[in-house]
Amino acid sequence: MDWQAIIGAIEDRVFPHYECDIRERGLYYYLLRQSRLRGSDSVTVPLSQISMGLQCSEYLARKAIRSLAKKGCIELEQTRHGHRVRPLLPQELKLPDSRKEAAPVDIESVDFFKDRAYLAPLLERERQQCFYCLRHIGEEEAELDHVVSQLNGGGNGYRNIVAACHNCNSKKQGGRQRTTSISSSGGGTSARRNSMTGCVH
Ligand SMILES: [Zn+2]
Repeated sequence: MDWQAIIGAIEDRVFPHYECDIRERGLYYYLLRQSRLRGSDSVTVPLSQISMGLQCSEYLARKAIRSLAKKGCIELEQTRHGHRVRPLLPQELKLPDSRKEAAPVDIESVDFFKDRAYLAPLLERERQQCFYCLRHIGEEEAELDHVVSQLNGGGNGYRNIVAACHNCNSKKQGGRQRTTSISSSGGGTSARRNSMTGCVH
């Protein structure tokens, strides 16, 4: 067995997926050491031994073992001699496909307007200032604005959505809309902002 890969998968995928706390992690490794690492499928251990191995009370040892069994990381059977445990290896568990988890996000296709989900990064981009008047704005008062209105074909991508104060947003909605796309105005954020402020105010 490739233990280097197995331990890596336990740390990177099993523990985070099953939200194992520090005691459950210790118990899992302890049981692994007593069984799979010794070449046997399962091990029968009395609770007192587990509690000694984990340096905790039998109450906490029992709690951890039941929790791991409930989560499905180990198979558990009560016998007269103690708990018969079979720790499951990453390849024996139903884990989400790590390739899917790591799939890169295409930022061009992200909707920056919907549900204000990306308000924080947008505000960070604008240095917590209204895109138009540069007034400091917090997350609660910030409004999202389409630089090019949707009627004029503006989309919900990060190039067209900005954070603005209520004043500027309502003034803009009042009719004085500018139809220059941010991406076509060139330069950095301040250059874009300067090119637009004259029109909005
Ligand atoms: Zn403003």
